[in-house]
Amino acid sequence: MGRVIVFGSLSQDLHLPMQRHPRTGETVMSGDIEYRFGGKGANQAVAAARAGVGSVFVGKVGDDPQGREYVERLRIFGVDTSQMEIVEDAPTGTAIIYNDKDGENMIVVAPGANHRMGMADLDRLDDLTGEDVLLMPLELPLDVVAAAAWRGHERGARVMLNLAPFAELPADVLALCDPVVVNEHEADLLAQAGLEVPELLTTLGAEGARWGDLTVPATPVTPVDTTGAGDAFCGTLAAALCRGADRAAALAEAAEAASANVLHHGAQPPLPAE
Ligand code: ATP
Repeated sequence: MGRVIVFGSLSQDLHLPMQRHPRTGETVMSGDIEYRFGGKGANQAVAAARAGVGSVFVGKVGDDPQGREYVERLRIFGVDTSQMEIVEDAPTGTAIIYNDKDGENMIVVAPGANHRMGMADLDRLDDLTGEDVLLMPLELPLDVVAAAAWRGHERGARVMLNLAPFAELPADVLALCDPVVVNEHEADLLAQAGLEVPELLTTLGAEGARWGDLTVPATPVTPVDTTGAGDAFCGTLAAALCRGADRAAALAEAAEAASANVLHHGAQPPLPAE
């Protein structure tokens, strides 16, 4: 059976609750800091593993406690971490999220080890086969993502791109991806950029998702935290496709998993008991 190979990012997320965001030069007090696990690549690899297929994460962490804890966490979720690297010249990727009392966020991302992913890491994709799905969000250097898409395509794998956070990639790269997944905001930016995408899949939040002529409703739930819903959707969709599900079945499975993901805090579910 095929595997989902996620070529992507991970980050330790520090959430700081505060009454209001600081102005330039100002110091404000925060409530208790909360540590969460994030990064689109790792979120998607966890979702694929939970969907019951082999899930391989290709990514980097720093030589620090946060990085080592994250590798162990992925392993507990059943993600194959053999293609991960601990780098000595950068810390584990970190995001600092300032949450104000009205629910508005300010986010600062320090990519750290994620931005040590380079062309040499394409060799980690050399064992891809025609049964595999290569899944990539965009939190890595864009030239490396584009080259990885070509490498996966050359190996005969299905290449799935999640155009998040939005960035323009060459039209020939977008054309070889099946599908390119965007949310509504990214779909608007894609249209503004005048970029044509043959296989576009748009997630529509509580409205579900659309892939060409196919639509799927979201499972009605009362969300607790929608962070990472798109990642759960992408990872589960990739798993379903590599299991051989048709598009309609894969969409339905992805929507179900994404809706379940909004029922807990954080982008990833709590760790399973070992
Ligand atoms: P995020 O950036 O928060 O990870 P996103 O903007 O990439 O998410 P969305 O389109 O908001 O992606 O959501 C992805 C999928 O998650 C939807 O297609 C839907 O299946 C599910 N989903 C999102 N919000 C809800 C909700 N309020 N109720 C049920 N399902 C939801």
